[in-house]
Amino acid sequence: MTAPPYPVSAPIPGVRRAWWLREALAAETSPLPAPPVAGEVSVDVAIVGGGYTGMWTAWFLTEMAPGMRIAILEADICGGGPSGRNGGFLHGWWEQLPYLVKRFGPEAGLQLAQAADEVVEGVGAWCDEQGVDAWHTPSGYLRVNAFPATPYDWQGLPDELAHLGAPGQLRHVEPADVQRFCASPAFHEGLLMPSAATIQPARLARGLRRVLLERGVQVHEATEVEHLDTAGKPLYLTTKGGRVAADQVVLAANAWAGGWPGFRTRVLAWGSYMVITEPIPGRLSEIGWTGGAALADSRFTISYFRTTRDGRIAFGAGVGAAGFDGRIGPVFTSDRGAIARVVANFRHLLPMLGDVRFEDAWGGPIDITADRFPEIGSRHSGRVHYAHGFAGNGVGPARLAGRTLAAMVAGIQDPLAANALIGQRQRFLPPEPFRYIGARAIREALIRQDDALDAGREPGALVSMVAGLPGLLGYRFKH
Ligand SMILES: Cc1cc2nc3c(=O)[nH]c(=O)nc-3n(C[C@H](O)[C@H](O)[C@H](O)COP(=O)(O)OP(=O)(O)OC[C@H]3O[C@@H](n4cnc5c(N)ncnc54)[C@H](O)[C@@H]3O)c2cc1C
Repeated sequence: MTAPPYPVSAPIPGVRRAWWLREALAAETSPLPAPPVAGEVSVDVAIVGGGYTGMWTAWFLTEMAPGMRIAILEADICGGGPSGRNGGFLHGWWEQLPYLVKRFGPEAGLQLAQAADEVVEGVGAWCDEQGVDAWHTPSGYLRVNAFPATPYDWQGLPDELAHLGAPGQLRHVEPADVQRFCASPAFHEGLLMPSAATIQPARLARGLRRVLLERGVQVHEATEVEHLDTAGKPLYLTTKGGRVAADQVVLAANAWAGGWPGFRTRVLAWGSYMVITEPIPGRLSEIGWTGGAALADSRFTISYFRTTRDGRIAFGAGVGAAGFDGRIGPVFTSDRGAIARVVANFRHLLPMLGDVRFEDAWGGPIDITADRFPEIGSRHSGRVHYAHGFAGNGVGPARLAGRTLAAMVAGIQDPLAANALIGQRQRFLPPEPFRYIGARAIREALIRQDDALDAGREPGALVSMVAGLPGLLGYRFKH
């Protein structure tokens, strides 16, 4: 593990569950049990992974195919992975619409962005209907340029979106107006996505778990799937405690997919880390950050920050390391060097809160593909379905992926599914160990490039060259 470059006044990450999940678990009254698989179990569909993707798949299946016998198999507890410890930024793909149109054409690209946008209101309405208090706050999402000497390059996006059929989904915000969302001397101009919201991520995950159990879905926690046998019918999933027979299987394993045969070459795990402050509602009032706006900066290793119901700031950044060969180990949960960088970014972006204390720190893996979009598809004669590759933006899109997977399992057409993505394989990433070595070098260059721009300097030629390598190789590495 890399040593912090300077003393850090933040808790050590990885020693306990993330603050979000502890808060959500403490709020649960008499949760229904979800015991591990013991012996032989037989279902129509088995879902590997109890995060948002797996649980939304189960939810939509209960709607699309009532009576289907569904089991969720989760190695940890539902929401124990990134679904219970992310930033809670809930939005779709408006920033990516130009890319989607380039890849899929104007109609299909716009359909995808619209389907991805449904998730924001869709999650809010679902929470209301199901009595899940996930702190859904329709706050908007504001990206601010915090580079002192570099104007941001999103200037043309609002007009481009209007031209592509999505007027008003992104808006330019003048520096003075940015200060009204949250007053910081580090912020310049901004780009607002008005439709976005925030949630308490673990409350959404745990709410899904409760509703699914009440609907009769079998949920098995502490159940790691060790092997999937696709040789005959039914399919068999082996766990420590037993075996599950299923006609269809859904793999909703997120970054863990990189360890599965067949996906290893197309998914790279990358660490994202967060800290949360003590409650400071008075200080938030002083800087006018009372509307709950979700904020992010213009760094490649993006910093994202939002407030909580009890007046804390949850602040994260994509500054963790890349994983090796699909293994999800302590580098994604216990990297103190990454937390030091998160804290440094916090102090840089919110200098007026330099004395605020941090009460928790944690991290998790995000799953990156060649173009930073998920791949959704089927294999083994259409009996095994999968979705992964959210690239750090899965809170909303995982609902879309779950809806799409459910329609695939049920064999129905759903106009609100991510239809253009179905069956589109991602490009191969370089093989190991070149991927790991390359990703490390590129990550370091990207951080140095961001640091230089933060300091108002031009990055050096070597740093720029290494940081630009993924683009030269045809990978879409930028947000
Ligand atoms: C620190 C951090 C901050 C983030 N912030 C945001 C944000 O603000 N907005 C946003 O849109 N996205 C964010 N993301 C990304 C987002 O959290 C994910 O894209 C999303 O949660 C993906 O959901 P999922 O269900 O696909 O994956 P997960 O939540 O990772 O669920 C996959 C589950 O599969 C289980 N599993 C894996 N292998 C097996 C196996 N063999 N057997 C049984 N179970 C298995 C794992 O235990 C895990 O619980 C963030 C991610 C991190 C790490």
